[in-house]
Amino acid sequence: MVQSAVLGFPRIGPNRELKKATEAYWNGKTSAEDLLKVGKEIREQNWKLQKEAGVDIIASNDFSFYDQVLDLSVLFNVIPDRYTKYQLPQLDVLFAMGRGLQRKATGSEPAVDVTALEMVKWFDSNYHYVRPTFGKNLSFKLNGQKPVDEFLEAKALGIQTRPVLVGPVSYLYLGKADKDNLELDPISLLDQLLPLYTDILQKLAAAGATEVQLDEPTLVLDLPTNVQAAVKKAYTYFGQQANLPKITLASYFGTVVPNLESLKGLPVSGFHFDFVRAPEQFNDVVSAIGPNQTLSVGIVDGRNIWKNNFTKSSAFVQQAIAKLGADRVIVATSSSLLHTPVDLENESKLDAELKNYFSFATQKLGEVVTIAKNVSGQDVSAALQANSAAIAARSASSFINDQAVKDRVSSIDANMSTRAAPFPQRLAEQQPVFKLPLFPTTTIGSFPQTKDIRINRNKFNKGQLSAEEYEKFINSEIERVIRFQEEIDLDVLVHGEPERNDMVQYFGEQLKGYAFTTNGWVQSYGSRYVRPPIIVGDLSRPKAMSVKESVYAQSITKKHVKGMLTGPITCLRWSFPRDDIDQQTQAYQLALALRDEVNDLEAAGIKIIQVDEPAIREGLPLRAGTERSAYQVWAAEAFRVATSGVSNKTQIHSHFCYSDLDPNHIKALDADVVSIEFSKKDDANYIAEFKDYPNHIGLGLFDIHSPRVPSTEEFITKIEAILKTYPAEKFWVNPDCGLKTRGWDETRESLTHMVEAAKYFRKQY
Ligand code: GLN
Ligand code: ZN
Repeated sequence: MVQSAVLGFPRIGPNRELKKATEAYWNGKTSAEDLLKVGKEIREQNWKLQKEAGVDIIASNDFSFYDQVLDLSVLFNVIPDRYTKYQLPQLDVLFAMGRGLQRKATGSEPAVDVTALEMVKWFDSNYHYVRPTFGKNLSFKLNGQKPVDEFLEAKALGIQTRPVLVGPVSYLYLGKADKDNLELDPISLLDQLLPLYTDILQKLAAAGATEVQLDEPTLVLDLPTNVQAAVKKAYTYFGQQANLPKITLASYFGTVVPNLESLKGLPVSGFHFDFVRAPEQFNDVVSAIGPNQTLSVGIVDGRNIWKNNFTKSSAFVQQAIAKLGADRVIVATSSSLLHTPVDLENESKLDAELKNYFSFATQKLGEVVTIAKNVSGQDVSAALQANSAAIAARSASSFINDQAVKDRVSSIDANMSTRAAPFPQRLAEQQPVFKLPLFPTTTIGSFPQTKDIRINRNKFNKGQLSAEEYEKFINSEIERVIRFQEEIDLDVLVHGEPERNDMVQYFGEQLKGYAFTTNGWVQSYGSRYVRPPIIVGDLSRPKAMSVKESVYAQSITKKHVKGMLTGPITCLRWSFPRDDIDQQTQAYQLALALRDEVNDLEAAGIKIIQVDEPAIREGLPLRAGTERSAYQVWAAEAFRVATSGVSNKTQIHSHFCYSDLDPNHIKALDADVVSIEFSKKDDANYIAEFKDYPNHIGLGLFDIHSPRVPSTEEFITKIEAILKTYPAEKFWVNPDCGLKTRGWDETRESLTHMVEAAKYFRKQY
């Protein structure tokens, strides 16, 4: 009998129980015990669910109160001094590292003020992990034994689990040296770390664990030779230790073939690879594994929500069985199911036809089990039939196919993706229209999304507010934001985005070809979850999406108001994409819909239009090579298709955040003005990289994730530093990103100081 395995299950609870409990704890409304209890309930529920679904290999230690990588940092005592000096309980240290902690002094306790560790995207997903940060005073030791405790917890319920830990090489390679320790290469810490892994693995074995899963997703990256060598060293070392459980070395999100040499001959009991993302690695990996090693075939997609194709997947697994024998093959999810919503059954509003095409984490349990049964020769004919019917219905569905959209995509040509004139000429035509001063000031788009806004939006969605009443409310919010910007004397205004629930969802809801969930939450970081919309079919725009609000805003002021849109790549990356056509085609479909919107805005008298692309960097393929270079070309082209239909006089802006950007990549978008997140990157090398950027650019001057208000002097110092390398005539003045998560008080103060600083420099130049 071929076994089934699940690499990890979402830990947020079916109704976001973890978010509610964690935030209540942070707000001091509940105790640590209450929070721990909720965690325990979620774990129990998840294990039982998997057991009942018939999954053979169930993960433990996939639960986390914040992030599984952060858990390891705490477990191994990789805790910079700034977090330990307050003598906080371990749970609070964990949260302080994840999200910072600011607390006033009370009678007995001193004040606490510590910022969070860096948060980074987990490979090419929208999950963020807390980066292990190796300071000078590092002393590795075990803090507690979370993996063992959770293993025992499951065992007490009668459920044997396979504990999962991020493996030593990925843990180190994903980390970085702390500011006080910059000469350190984290990989050099391997020798100190391996005994700790051994210790915890031995404890697991002693507790009854027969097998563990060590995740080494870095194997899908381009690894330097010393990191490849570290893989060999680490697992050879484990092979020499006594009393360890069997090890399955798991990798996912791509192919391991370029790093295959370092996996050959390792003394592990088996490997797990991702054949959803990289089926082409099959022959290479099968011939590389040893005669007694197992292969866990990741065939049920851990990153998307489409129903598995049982016939295709079974045939794939059969190939593996033919080569290795049934007892050496396991049917598995491609990665942890962390990246998928918990349960499709929670969706009561979803169209029944669409629902039949989807599979969320809970449904995926049944999928691995059914495929395992099928390839073992058990009778699952009813399930197979229903599955084939759903797959067939999906490909013929009227939701999906729209010939007009397909035709339009094939008509895209160079003309459509190029502005009429190059930037210098556009600039010459734009300057007399806008007459902007040097150091023009602007913001990125959103203003505080107050409780009042959320309440009114909810009322409108529930039908308690009529369309006219809601429009009136939104207009009053827009007016407030316009008057505020006039008052503090910003140069280019925005309408403030009060009508938008989310920058992707808002447009997705108005496009044909999108579907939405009511409860399809996925963890993005900590207690922040997102509900990605689903691209189900060919995409088109039935009518204008943002013109009304922009036109209203422009009608009540003499200053220029920017129209504000979300770009094609960001819409694509922050949705669940289709798996039946490539991402490039979906990006072009979005680009065409947005092109119509950009043109409509221009026709309605909006002269500056910003198309945000914060997700453009995360879409970059993980490895260098043809796929990556192709992405750079088509992602930029999609943006240009969206923005090149306007006249030279119309000014196109774009905005990027969340990651280190490559100026060359941005150059290819040919936006007239870009604004980028910058405030936490104020290092001279990074500024220098942008020195030769040909068009105009605003380097974000303050962190919008923090309520902290920078003084005018602070802005001046920052701008002065940038001006050492960066030409004044290209310099825009703006924050890092939108202000929607901020309060009004700090927004008013920060922006006022920012404008004062810009005026100071106008006098100097
Ligand atoms: N215009 C959006 C806003 O201001 C941009 C958000 C983003 O880049 N994440 O909120
Ligand atoms: Zn941003």
